[in-house]
Amino acid sequence: MKKINPLDFVRPNILALEPYSTARDEFKGGDISVWLDANESPYPSGLNRYPDPHQKKLKTAVAALKGVGEEQIFIGGAGSDEAIDLVYRIFCRPGVDNVISISPTYGVYEVSAEINDIELRKVSLGEGYSLPVDALLAAADANSKVIWICSPNNPTGNAFAPLDILKVVEGFNGMVVVDEAYVDFSPYPSMLAFLDSHPNLIVMQTFSKAWGMASLRMGLAFASPEIAELFARVKYPYNVNGPTQEELLRRIELSNPSEQVAEIVSERVRLAEALEVMPVVHKVHPSDSNFLLVEVDDPDGLYDYLISHGVIVRNRNRVRGCEGCLRITVGVPAENDRVISLVRDYRQA
Ligand code: PMP
Repeated sequence: MKKINPLDFVRPNILALEPYSTARDEFKGGDISVWLDANESPYPSGLNRYPDPHQKKLKTAVAALKGVGEEQIFIGGAGSDEAIDLVYRIFCRPGVDNVISISPTYGVYEVSAEINDIELRKVSLGEGYSLPVDALLAAADANSKVIWICSPNNPTGNAFAPLDILKVVEGFNGMVVVDEAYVDFSPYPSMLAFLDSHPNLIVMQTFSKAWGMASLRMGLAFASPEIAELFARVKYPYNVNGPTQEELLRRIELSNPSEQVAEIVSERVRLAEALEVMPVVHKVHPSDSNFLLVEVDDPDGLYDYLISHGVIVRNRNRVRGCEGCLRITVGVPAENDRVISLVRDYRQA
């Protein structure tokens, strides 16, 4: 395997960047009782002090949770969407570079590419929504900086075998980002195990799905220390607010979501089995996530019918590669029962 230096793929202005230094960056510790360095209000309100810009306590907890080094972690205060945007800002020169993604996949990679004036090249998934390893590599040229692989993939629901993902990582002269937002629901292990051996790999995860904290907006990116340091340089200085840091720390220490994940996975199987025998359903695509992509006879009609009965799902009928499909998130058993009985009773107009 050839030796890859991920810094070779970084935008020159980012490599040269002198980051903003906050008052709390310059504070190196000591027994301080009078804080007059950051132009804060001196009146204690519980919120009057700036938070730790480096989220040190949180990183210690996340490192232990994920089995990685603290220096390999980026924590985003606007979910993984923040990390996605940072990838463009770190690696891609606007109007010059391009990125490659599977298709269909999570829409934010494309929107963020457009915002950053980066061409996104879409490569259709193979038969059975399989990873098109050769086509992804063939789509690259000298200005291709990033390949996006979402696994398990949204909206198709399936995960890709780690060995296939590794073929892309090892065959590409650029960064490969594996978005593992749904990894907790998958039978495949995380790609985090390959971080040390593959410096062009970035893994993204989130506390929004299995951990049940979508409202907190906590996203994670894991990378080599050199690349994680660039995320820290480019991010907004205080990108994770204080109450959020404290709340996440408290919840990580309190419990983990394994029981809920087990229930979602067994409900996913139950929902799939119930739906696939219904006349209106053509196919329930295999899922390794907390949702099902379901191909039906009359997607728009069924979608409106579910809404009229107080149930909202995601209509993916107009997404290329998902024609005829609704994406249904797995709920608690009573919610899934409701979907099952509504679909059973549905009669096309
Ligand atoms: N990646 C994927 C594949 C997703 O489906 C989503 C949310 N739907 C995200 C990332 C964003 O997660 P977050 O809430 O952490 O921004």
